Amino acid sequence: MAPASPTRIIVCFAPEAEAGSVRSALRGLGLDPAPGPDWRWYDPGLLVAWPGVAPRPEAVERVRALSAVRRVVELPAGRWLYDGAAGQAGCGTAPVTLPNGLRIGAGELTVIAGPCSVESAAQVCEIAAAVKEAGARALRGGTFKPRTSPYVFGGLGEAGLEYLARAREQTGLPIVTEALEPAQVAVVSRYADVIQIGSRSMQNAALLVLAGSHSAGKAVLLKRGFAATLDEYLQAAEHVLLGRLWAGATEPGLILCERGIRTFGTETRFTLDIGALPILQERSRLPVVADPSHAAGQRRYVAPLACAAVAAGADGLLVEVHTEPERAWSDAAQCLDVRAFRALMQQVSALAAARARPAAGD
Ligand code: PEP
Ligand code: MN
Repeated sequence: MAPASPTRIIVCFAPEAEAGSVRSALRGLGLDPAPGPDWRWYDPGLLVAWPGVAPRPEAVERVRALSAVRRVVELPAGRWLYDGAAGQAGCGTAPVTLPNGLRIGAGELTVIAGPCSVESAAQVCEIAAAVKEAGARALRGGTFKPRTSPYVFGGLGEAGLEYLARAREQTGLPIVTEALEPAQVAVVSRYADVIQIGSRSMQNAALLVLAGSHSAGKAVLLKRGFAATLDEYLQAAEHVLLGRLWAGATEPGLILCERGIRTFGTETRFTLDIGALPILQERSRLPVVADPSHAAGQRRYVAPLACAAVAAGADGLLVEVHTEPERAWSDAAQCLDVRAFRALMQQVSALAAARARPAAGD
């Protein structure tokens, strides 16, 4: 019987290569354990093999030398891409750097704010300017919205992406926006600095790998499924990181986001799992942010949850803000107005400063 957590060999190959030929070359080198579905194939060219025993170094070298093969990574038993096993040096959080130089997870609290949905160019540009002025470092806004009811606003689609790009031009804030389906990843990644994968999509493996593979130089923000355990969540993160590996990225470029889980409580929309924050930081090298807005569901609970998350060590926050919250086209009840957001920024900045460890000698 194979060990519970065998060494894994991840082989990234060129998309034009025949999966079958890579596979049979690997088989020829004894990297094909039987029985069982011991191969995984993901677009655009990635195979994961479970040799079951540590493979001979010569076999791995021969796989590396195959012309179709771009990259081979060996994951030792019990290690994962999310814990840094693919070889980033050092330890601690691997910060995510955005194109404008913003680093998330580098010790400072990063607040990402904006409307639930992009409604018009004027709306998103006005909100972007307001949240920037209050201290936000990135802009959020959905144009492809995951909807529980089919009878509510589903987002503006590509037009909304253009409005977000306009807001970025005016403010310099990088943009975080969601892709719902694999077919949307290409268009979203043309505009976004960070591709958001929503809570409802956390188990869409094809979407996860594809978002990772389109994100070289960009980043992915992966929300926790509202019924997912932390193990399931980290396995979802591993899918994104497989995509990143295939794309040749040298940094993880992935941000985790705790946004509340379903419990028996009904007074808040979800239950923000504060304990998940230090656990995810301990088990992965990924920055971990919290979304108090979707957890709270009602604006008066957003600030207390945000403060709790910052006190627990969150690397950042994702907050829904609107200039006219009661008229927001989606998630109106949980949107903060600009004044409340300014007050929240003051509270969380003070907390973040208090939790910062003084440098040696201070
Ligand atoms: C959102 O960020 O607007 C959203 C839909 O979030 P979630 O996927 O966490 O529900
Ligand atoms: Mn929302």
